[in-house]
Amino acid sequence: MRALYPGSFDPLTFGHLDLIERGCSLFGEVIVAVLENPSKSATFPLSQRLDQIKAATKHLNGVEVISFDGLTVNCAHQTKADLILRGLRAMSDFEYELQIAHTNRTLAADFETVFLATAAHHSFLSSSVVKEVARFGGKIDHMVPEEVAEDLRTLFN
Ligand code: ADP
Repeated sequence: MRALYPGSFDPLTFGHLDLIERGCSLFGEVIVAVLENPSKSATFPLSQRLDQIKAATKHLNGVEVISFDGLTVNCAHQTKADLILRGLRAMSDFEYELQIAHTNRTLAADFETVFLATAAHHSFLSSSVVKEVARFGGKIDHMVPEEVAEDLRTLFN
């Protein structure tokens, strides 16, 4: 099966990477779709986010990294995905994720959203937390892959 894993990935964290790895073992193929959202300014430009994810997933078979804009369900149709993959860290994610999943079902009844619970040791991780720590020179090597850590150090040094 082919799973579409959409998100901002601004930047990719070990929480995201864990989901991609587990998605690969469960479904065989994971398309990581990086949202290009002109109305939301990203910390890292789209091309850099794509490069970061490609570098961090090069050890995995069955991963493709693409960008998309517009509706996730359109991207799922275009890529011939069987399902949409998302992650859940805490109750705070649940409300938002449920709303999006229901909305997507009303737009395209043929797509299921499959949620994977975060690995417990990654449950505190979010792109914004990582940026906050990096901004003040804190240790980030246990939070993000090496290439992302380097980009963050370059950005905030
Ligand atoms: P978005 O802006 O679409 O929420 P994100 O890049 O923040 O994009 O997240 C993409 C997906 O990855 C979401 O489903 C989010 O819940 C999930 N995710 C983010 N961080 C983690 C983590 N540490 N563990 C598991 N899932 C995560």
